[in-house]
Amino acid sequence: MTRIAVFPGSFDPLTNGHLDIIKRAIDIFDKLIVTVAINTNKNALFSLEERVQIIQDVINYEKLSDVYVMSTDRLTVDFMKIHHANYIVRGIRNENDYLYERDIANINSVLADNNIESVFLLAKSQNEKLSSSMLKEIIRFNGDISKFVPKVVLDRIKSK
Ligand code: ADP
Repeated sequence: MTRIAVFPGSFDPLTNGHLDIIKRAIDIFDKLIVTVAINTNKNALFSLEERVQIIQDVINYEKLSDVYVMSTDRLTVDFMKIHHANYIVRGIRNENDYLYERDIANINSVLADNNIESVFLLAKSQNEKLSSSMLKEIIRFNGDISKFVPKVVLDRIKSK
């Protein structure tokens, strides 16, 4: 059976932490779909279309095969049914992430009648403190985020 996983998130913007999880996940699964969700908060840096395009550019730049990116306005479990995915990949940075992710995983499992499995990858120590929301703050004050995002992302932010 082909093991298809989704990696859902906002990715506004994609960080080195996200990219690390993508690279490690594709070593485990046959196919990985990065699913970019509608951003409900008003502090969005990039639109949904821009975020998808940026992630596609990163996938191409890094030559990641079997990794795809799609936007979705569906519940993750509904998206997964359509795309025959059985695994959800999420990254865990700290105990807060763990508690949050545990609740989501339990709810998703119920929603999908136990037909899916959530798989958690621990953030690399250098990425533990890294979040898109913190980067957005630094960007708004014109700070240097070159150490925290892939070059493709950095170029897009600079040209914005
Ligand atoms: P969401 O709004 O769904 O939390 P994010 O884009 O913030 O979306 O995160 C998507 C996933 O990536 C989550 O599982 C999150 O825990 C994980 N993640 C975020 N930042 C990092 C990081 N620095 N290292 C590893 N995983 C991360």
